[in-house]
Amino acid sequence: DKKDKSRYRITVMGAAGVGKSAIISQFLYDRFQEEYNQTVEELHQGDFDFNGMKLTLDILDTAGAYSFPAMRQLAISTSDAFVLVYSVADESSFQAVTELREQILKEKNSDDVPIVIVANKVDVGDSNRALERVTAESIVCVEWGNGYVEASAKDNVNIVGIFKEILRQSKVQYALS
Ligand code: GDP
Ligand code: MG
Repeated sequence: DKKDKSRYRITVMGAAGVGKSAIISQFLYDRFQEEYNQTVEELHQGDFDFNGMKLTLDILDTAGAYSFPAMRQLAISTSDAFVLVYSVADESSFQAVTELREQILKEKNSDDVPIVIVANKVDVGDSNRALERVTAESIVCVEWGNGYVEASAKDNVNIVGIFKEILRQSKVQYALS
């Protein structure tokens, strides 16, 4: 319920295989799965204490960027904030994030939507990186004005940082008070 201020909905989007489900699993259930399960759409829930106030996060896991456009549209319109994931080993997945962000801004009819871009799979190492950190970070932070987090769901690096950043951007503390 959108009017219930103690609930907050975050939708996780990005190309297939970038690690969306792995990020959610690591964040909520403290585990990493090697095998790849193609998710259609799955709603997770986590209860948190945020500055002494109870907050329920509804975290929506979505399918790859190009399937089910109507579902994607519905997911966007019902969400408060967005985590857009790409893989640092796959340059085309950054293009997918670019397109998703444009669709979100269009759908929300606002450029003040809390969005965090996640560069996942940093554990693959520099030689397997398709996109330099400075390049991605300057596009995301300077050009777009969104949050940027480098993460590894596999090694549990910066996963909590993703959700801290989205809540910081969302100014949830004001919504709750
Ligand atoms: P999704 O389609 O975006 O939900 O991707 P998944 O979470 O299912 O992950 C796809 C594949 O990438 C799986 O085999 C995962 O084990 C793997 N994966 C996910 N996150 C990472 C990561 O941070 N590092 C590495 N090396 N592999 C990852
Ligand atoms: Mg998935």
